[in-house]
Amino acid sequence: MGLYVNGTYSKPCILLCLKSIREACDEYETGIDCGIQTTIVHELGHAIQQARDEEFDEDEAEEFAYQYEYGLFPLTLLEKEKVHGKEKIT
Ligand SMILES: [Zn+2]
Repeated sequence: MGLYVNGTYSKPCILLCLKSIREACDEYETGIDCGIQTTIVHELGHAIQQARDEEFDEDEAEEFAYQYEYGLFPLTLLEKEKVHGKEKIT
């Protein structure tokens, strides 16, 4: 449904397949706006992981999107302490 373009974390480039997002939204009976938002935030989670020099973690990115969707702030992904000498992202 979405793709974070590897290496673009300083200016994240996220590609969306609106057709597959629409199909998923129809399957889960949710609105297309929610599907687009969730996909963008999930892919942004991968950009944050890469900025921290971490491996891509699908579960963490999905939890990030879930927290954003339900307004569960602060977001755990943004609270993580600096890793591997990278600056903490807040
Ligand atoms: Zn992912």
